[in-house]
Amino acid sequence: MLKITEEVFYIPGQDAFMPDSHAYVLGKPTSEDLSLVDAGLLGKGSYKIQSIQKAGIELSSIKRIIMTHTHLDHIGCLAEILKQLPWAELWMHHSEADLLEQGDERGVYGMDMFRVLCQLQFGLKAGAFKFQVNRKLQGGETLDLGNTVWEVIHIPGHSMGSIGLYHRPMKILIPGDVVYSDHAIGRFDLYGADASELRKSLVSLAELEVDILLPGHNQIVEGLPKGYILKTARQWEPYLK
Ligand SMILES: [Zn+2]
Ligand SMILES: [Zn+2]
Repeated sequence: MLKITEEVFYIPGQDAFMPDSHAYVLGKPTSEDLSLVDAGLLGKGSYKIQSIQKAGIELSSIKRIIMTHTHLDHIGCLAEILKQLPWAELWMHHSEADLLEQGDERGVYGMDMFRVLCQLQFGLKAGAFKFQVNRKLQGGETLDLGNTVWEVIHIPGHSMGSIGLYHRPMKILIPGDVVYSDHAIGRFDLYGADASELRKSLVSLAELEVDILLPGHNQIVEGLPKGYILKTARQWEPYLK
């Protein structure tokens, strides 16, 4: 686990034959009120738990898991992690929470072919991703997470309930899979995706001042160039109709 600031820690994903999302731990460790952002791919939970422990953080300090969205590469090992943190609450955008609570896994797999492939590969049964969600976010909330303040921004397009977390004082953005380093953006062909929504989400993120970009995959960026997200949005605009 790598320290980004006094209140933001980074656990890099370990891509296998499928990508594994990064996870982040938010909050001042002394608050004992920490949040884990995203889980990761199936089988990629235990090294993340170990890396939190190795950093000297008591697991009992992790009070909740906040999902940027619920694609398989982010939610795959959620059950694995919740087994280690049975007290932790689960927070996410209401649109994806409602699907999960009903046992509707279209948003997890994104497409039918991928569902069949994953169920074979991992021996998953239908209903493997049914979860009760403790807090359903709308976007627009201001969360106090372990003595740090984060704004929730609903940024649909990559998935219907994608959220970003923004720490205004230090200009830190956790955009899930909406925007990455190297002007890449999340795919917009899966269930619940919408290209024109994604364009609007990028444009709204472009209004934020961002110094540190902590995406769901690939490089994290410290010292993000000014106008980076707007430039990314402009580059992708022709494809996002
Ligand atoms: Zn995704
Ligand atoms: Zn992802």
